[in-house]
Amino acid sequence: MTFQGNNGSDVSRQGLVVAIDGPAGAGKSTVASHLAKRFGLLNLETGAMYRALALKALRSGTALDDGEAVLLLTRSTHITLEPGDGGNRVLLDGSEVTGELRNPEVTAAASHVSVHGPVREWMVAAQRSLGNASPSGVVMEGRDIGTVVFPQAPVKIFLDASVEARGDRRFAQQPAAAENKEALLKEMRDRDTRDRSREQSPLKPAEDAIILDTTGLSLDQVLERTVALVSERIL
Ligand code: C5P
Repeated sequence: MTFQGNNGSDVSRQGLVVAIDGPAGAGKSTVASHLAKRFGLLNLETGAMYRALALKALRSGTALDDGEAVLLLTRSTHITLEPGDGGNRVLLDGSEVTGELRNPEVTAAASHVSVHGPVREWMVAAQRSLGNASPSGVVMEGRDIGTVVFPQAPVKIFLDASVEARGDRRFAQQPAAAENKEALLKEMRDRDTRDRSREQSPLKPAEDAIILDTTGLSLDQVLERTVALVSERIL
């Protein structure tokens, strides 16, 4: 399995790392993409890596709860992230799969394949090398960036919000999902519980992370505060 940023760079000097973690629907992707543009950083969505591997597992009929089988799958899997303005374009074994990664089945599967320790170790190594290969620096978003992937990151932001607020934002993004509001909220709660309670690298803020509860904040307020947090730490 290989990962590749879109600049093809093999430079190993590490630039600024901004770590963004938090539960599903807290606004991580929007914030990460805004900060990347504002500060000229590469935007890497680590969730897309877990989603791509989950898609491969579903396609190949691999049991999601069989850690050894999922790990074996990684050996013949190539995932490429191409950061762009609207988020990451994702190639799985050379074919674009970006549009499929947000399917509910893939979303749930990603949180199952991500519980396996050896799979996570493999992902973390790939994420570190991607981050280190970007001389301009990265905004990396996920669940364990500040705690495990880049514990030395000078900027760590943990975005949180009530499950209702996170659900409302998802409905606004995907109006079709509004019909199944209860189902979507349940999926979100189940995924959060799995992410928070897994043994290896559970979702939690790093001790030195800035926790930003965005429940009562508008998008503009969240962007303004996060830009200020990064500016404070780099200037
Ligand atoms: O961020 P996103 O919703 O795309 O992540 C999908 C799933 O991948 C999460 O629910 C989580 O189980 C897993 N994940 C993870 N660690 C990360 C990023 C994502 O465990 N750094």
